[in-house]
Amino acid sequence: MYFEKDASLHDIEDEVVAVVGYGIQGKAFAANLRDSGVRVVVGNRDDDYRKAALADGFDTRPIAEAVAAATTVLLLIPDEAHQEVYGSQIAPGLRDGDLFVLAHGFSLRYDRIALPDGIDVALLAPKMFGKPIRQRYTEGSGVLAFLDVVEDRTGRALRRTLGIAKAVGFTRYGVLPVPLATETELDLFQEQFLTPLLLDAFRTAFEVLVGAGCDPVPALLDMHASGEMAEMMVEAATTGIYEVIEQQGSPTCRFGVQKYLGTLLGPDVRAKGERILGDIRNGAFVEELSREAQAGYPSLADYRTAYEAGAMTRTHDTYRAILGHP
Ligand code: NDP
Repeated sequence: MYFEKDASLHDIEDEVVAVVGYGIQGKAFAANLRDSGVRVVVGNRDDDYRKAALADGFDTRPIAEAVAAATTVLLLIPDEAHQEVYGSQIAPGLRDGDLFVLAHGFSLRYDRIALPDGIDVALLAPKMFGKPIRQRYTEGSGVLAFLDVVEDRTGRALRRTLGIAKAVGFTRYGVLPVPLATETELDLFQEQFLTPLLLDAFRTAFEVLVGAGCDPVPALLDMHASGEMAEMMVEAATTGIYEVIEQQGSPTCRFGVQKYLGTLLGPDVRAKGERILGDIRNGAFVEELSREAQAGYPSLADYRTAYEAGAMTRTHDTYRAILGHP
């Protein structure tokens, strides 16, 4: 694990850093880098994101120009756009000795972009969305990131990447070396296994309660909308997922949890998890994703239709109105 003492801003003092994309990650990276004294140029298409970067006072240019002006390029646009944008606007501007950094390993793990010889390449993957990256930085702390040096042509790739990590605030929390392939697989597995499992668990609990005559609003508030469950997970991140129940739960709660722990998921859930991970590793998922993208993501519309029509979404609207939330 790398911490503050392992990284130095001197290692990037001569760099000009192009932040390509000014969205969830790009906005936070750019602001933290600038506040750490790093020279930043934002690369974005001429649209609202570009206007936002200009309004925030950044030297903002078309992507190809930002890359040409930089010695380090951070690719912070959605993964599905990497292939096209990299080929047309980034690759032509990369020079020997540049450092190219991705925030997620997807494009390299699945060979969607081919990098030239002569450059340093690294993964610096925040394990957090953008808003807390900025907020924690301004408060003097940071968030976890995974790091992997993929190509080291200058002999300084690790020092440079750690310099960027320090400037964004990651070394304040800790930067863990994790191979790029592992980072990619973990991220996809969480999206494809853990998240659907949790969503289905919440929906099933809601349907049981409402089906048995409970008022949907207090049911949803009690399940997760009060934020209590979220606070427990925050606590669990430091104390441990089982320990938090031990420490925060009453004897009644702990007895109830232990009574049903390990009994509610069907025996085939583990096999499904293994199959999902298998498809992530052997590329079957990515092939499916490509077909979906080519067809214009029809499943995403199905997802929206399904949850918008669902009783949980309608209940969310109701309690938001009751609580006066926008
Ligand atoms: P966003 O969706 O927030 O990126 C939006 C930015 O990308 C905008 O500047 C947008 O500009 C630009 N963009 C989108 N499509 C294109 C395109 N086709 N051509 C050029 N620019 C485009 O992305 P994130 O910040 O969520 O993700 C960036 C990277 O960070 C990804 O690799 C992701 O996996 C990784 N990551 C994201 C996390 C997160 O919490 N979101 C967490 C950890 C890693 P425009 O107005 O031109 O569309």
